[in-house]
Amino acid sequence: MPRSLAITIFLTIAVPLFSTDTLRAGAAQSVITPELNGHAVYLAGFGHNRVATGVHDDLYARCLGLGIAKQTLVVCSVDLIGLFYDDVLTIRRAFQHTTPAGSVLIVASTHTHAGPDTLGLYGPKPLESGIDGKYLDWVDQRIAVTAADAVHAMKPARLEFGRDDHPLLVMLQGVDRPPIVKDPFLYVMRLVARSTGETIATVVNWSDHPEVLGRKNTKITADYPHWVRGYLEKKMGGMTLFFSGSIGKVSPLGHQVALTDPETGKIAEDETWRKAELLGTEIGRLAEHALKRAQPANVDSFPIRTDTVFVPMHNPNFRVAEAAGVFAGRKPFYTNGDPDPAVEMRELPQFGRVNYATGHNIQTEVDYVLLRSNGVPVAEIVTVPGEIYPELVNGGVARYPGADYAEAPIEPVLREHLRTKYQFIFGLGNDEIGYLIPKAEWDEKPPWLKNAAEPWYGEVNSVGPDAAAAVLRALIALISRQ
Ligand SMILES: [Zn+2]
Repeated sequence: MPRSLAITIFLTIAVPLFSTDTLRAGAAQSVITPELNGHAVYLAGFGHNRVATGVHDDLYARCLGLGIAKQTLVVCSVDLIGLFYDDVLTIRRAFQHTTPAGSVLIVASTHTHAGPDTLGLYGPKPLESGIDGKYLDWVDQRIAVTAADAVHAMKPARLEFGRDDHPLLVMLQGVDRPPIVKDPFLYVMRLVARSTGETIATVVNWSDHPEVLGRKNTKITADYPHWVRGYLEKKMGGMTLFFSGSIGKVSPLGHQVALTDPETGKIAEDETWRKAELLGTEIGRLAEHALKRAQPANVDSFPIRTDTVFVPMHNPNFRVAEAAGVFAGRKPFYTNGDPDPAVEMRELPQFGRVNYATGHNIQTEVDYVLLRSNGVPVAEIVTVPGEIYPELVNGGVARYPGADYAEAPIEPVLREHLRTKYQFIFGLGNDEIGYLIPKAEWDEKPPWLKNAAEPWYGEVNSVGPDAAAAVLRALIALISRQ
């Protein structure tokens, strides 16, 4: 072979098909359904002692890896009620053993109310943990392996974004605590393999508690996201990941969300598989529709910003639960930045004489990812470590007679600080600290908001009246950082 020809061939092979700043994407999934044989699996989300009797559909950890040059981000959606920050830190340690240095992992729970208790609050009775430590350790490792699998599956990809903000989307969300404010935005992203044009993954972000099956159901299920994923995977191929958004007080249960069953012509009843199927299929259909007019984006960088936050602990039930070991050591309390396991005896009306954890706050995290094309921001991902009330995201915090802190300053509104058309909000991102409620609407003491005869539901599932401000202030500092 003449020397010049050999060189030509060598150069042809050596020139990469794609430049190093080409986006790569990969997806992986694992089943994380608990074993039911031989021991009680406590289902999370409603009351105590709801023991699983079977599996309707498997629970999954689904991960999407995104890479540009040496930077890697993995986002995982897991069909669980929530994972505490310490579990996410455990998952990250295992993940980092098998992935390039600097790889970032975000784990968000869908908040299904028909999966195992991974928070401890739904055990056989109050102050008895529902956590199965062996299962949860296994799940943590399983998520880490799945996240690493997504990185190893990455290949050159194209990215497109879709959204739907039609006013009628509010009809898929029910809210029955004032103010009746929602965050009815559907965001979708799709990753397509450059080599084949096939879908690698579709990401759907929508806000509605996955609790259609209700408190009487004892079959494990991912709830309506199961049908969102089933619909889209059939239509688009690849893997679909579902992320719950601003779901505080937002439910598909109740008469506000009326879905007509085309087979019977009647409205599907709450707590039925049919309503879950109709809702999930509808969200899937809307996501597919949004992708038909999707905007392709040549994303060539995605700076990731992260901060830890200490959130003041106010909730006496959580203090008693912590002292009783309900959280199984997975949600430590802190004082002055250090873990503080201190407890003291207290007399509380609802418990009698009990141990009471006295640490001042809990630690959590907020993340902000900016996806850019040629330096121009095109999309954003925000993680919120709990269930945020929609008015804190979309605006509309209200002042009512009866509020405990009537003069409280109103927290910054998240979407007012976001700057792109595609604003993904991953609720229960990297933690589940419960409801984030505007302080001006906080209402633990009578008179009740709007002079209602009964207390409103919410505060019992919140760390406290200052949690929302702590999280939002930290997030907005991240977003504004240059
Ligand atoms: Zn919830």
